[in-house]
This record gives sequence, structure tokens and C-alpha cells, in this order.
Amino acid sequence: MAEGGGLLLVGVGGQGVIMASGLVASALIAGGYDVKQSEVHGMAQRGGVVFSHLRFGPEVASPLLSPGSADAVVAFEWGEALRWLSYLRPGGTLVASVERIVPPASCADRRTWDLGYPAVDRGAIAAWVPDARLVDARAVAGSLGNARAANSVLLGILSTMLEVPEEAWEAAVAAGVPPRTVDVNLRAFRVGRTGGLAPAGTWSPPAPPVPRPVPSIEITPAWCKGCDVCVRFCPERCLALDGDLKAVAVQPSLCTGCRLCELLCPDFAIEITRPALPEDRAAEVATRG
Ligand code: SF4
Ligand code: SF4
Repeated sequence: MAEGGGLLLVGVGGQGVIMASGLVASALIAGGYDVKQSEVHGMAQRGGVVFSHLRFGPEVASPLLSPGSADAVVAFEWGEALRWLSYLRPGGTLVASVERIVPPASCADRRTWDLGYPAVDRGAIAAWVPDARLVDARAVAGSLGNARAANSVLLGILSTMLEVPEEAWEAAVAAGVPPRTVDVNLRAFRVGRTGGLAPAGTWSPPAPPVPRPVPSIEITPAWCKGCDVCVRFCPERCLALDGDLKAVAVQPSLCTGCRLCELLCPDFAIEITRPALPEDRAAEVATRG
């Protein structure tokens, strides 16, 4: 992509897609490109679809990509990776996290949502997209200290495809993420940039389903303002407000790990940790080569 090209960044609300797109644009501008960016985040409530078109080159007239024209699709969520694959040009690159975020109303029984959600079939993807770089970015970032730095892992991978100096990328990351998270985001970026990712063709069938262990619900009372959103939207009625109007887990054993509360909380007061599934662990192992 020396002369320029087009990128499509996709994910769901709350994942930081727009922030990541702005960061890529900053790096490209620092690398000497003309850049045009367009985004749709009208459904920006957490969980809604968010995408950003980004075109760059010596001179760019329009920001919009047409289907089949993107040099790379960068997907921060697995279902969105599949949704937007048609925008990839033949020979293009898919950079995708295998994290799956179930849409709020998509499953009647959220305890079995993963049975109805698109599986991470690396073999099938390899047949469609020979250059597919799949990674459990959230798990990798979590192992570095903060799962919220997952986007930087993907941007690190993307950076290897663009002719932009590493310093420009790192400056864009440092300027574009919240100040307290600069260090972990830079570490995540470097892992993505230098880590050896397994080729997509090395997929093997997933292990049979195993009983799902109960996720952990971590609530930071100091950040909770008692807005009640998580309580009202939890499909399993796991949460309640206590006498101090702070959210508490009253039925944690019913939690399915859907992360709806975490995604909807306006103050980032909830963190759900789902025990790794066999498939997740396999993806993480593959990521680290
Ligand atoms: S959504 Fe967040 S701020 Fe609102 S009650 Fe729940 S934890 Fe507290
Ligand atoms: S507590 Fe949160 S993660 Fe667990 S079922 Fe309720 S909304 Fe989903």
C-alpha cells in the first residue's frame, strides 16, 4: 500500500472504533499521506454497529469505499468481521479480533448465545481470505494488563502493512488513547506489530462444548452513580442497587457473561471476566505462535 489505499474499520459501539480510526488517520498524515475519513456511529449506543471508511494517498477526493475495494478490513468484533468482508478487495487483508459481542436482542436464551453466533472457523476464513490475521486481541491485551487495549493489538498488526514510520504510529497511539493507558496501549501495539500470528489455514475443529463456568462480575463502587441502567438491562436479573444506590451483584451465579452491563454502563464501573473457553485458549496460543 505504498501509494495509498483504503481501510475499513468496523466494530460495535463502545469498542473505540472511531478513536482507533482517528489514530490511524493521524499516523497516516504523519507519514505524509492525504487522508479522508468518514464514519457512521449514529447507532453509537454501546452494542450498535460502528464503521469508519478511511482512504489515503498522495491526494484523496472522497473518503468512501465501495464493496470489494478495501485493502484491509480491520474488525474489532468477530460478527462485524463477517458482516463487512464483502468490502475487502481480492487479495486484501483481514485483521480481526475473534472476540464475539452478542447483540442485546439477538438470542432468546442468552445462556446459549454462542451456539447461534457465527463460529470462528479459521479454515473457512482462509478459503475466502488467504491473508487473514485473526487474534483474540482482548485476551492478548488482558495478558498485558488491560483488556481495553485490545484495539492497539490490531492496530499494531495493521501498521505492518502501511508505509508509515514506527515512531509516527507510536506517537499517534500515545496521543490518541486516554493518558492513563498510554503504556499498556503502546505495549499492546508493539505485540501486534512484532508478534508472530499463526496463518489462517492452521485451523482445527473446535473441542466439544463444555459447561460454561460462571463469569466474574467486578463493580467499582466509586465509579457507580446509581443510574440503574445495568440493573434494568441485565437479562438474567443478576444486579440490583444497594442502599447507597451502588450496583451490586445479587445473583452472580445466573450471569451468562453477555457483558451487556459492562457495555452499557456509562461510567465503566463494571467489568465482566469470562473464563476462557477452549476455543479462546486455542486462539490465544495461536496468536503467540
Ligand atoms: S450502569 Fe454503571 S453507573 Fe449505572 S448503576 Fe450500573 S454500574 Fe452504576
Ligand atoms: S450481570 Fe452483566 S454479564 Fe452477567 S448476565 Fe447480567 S448483563 Fe450479562
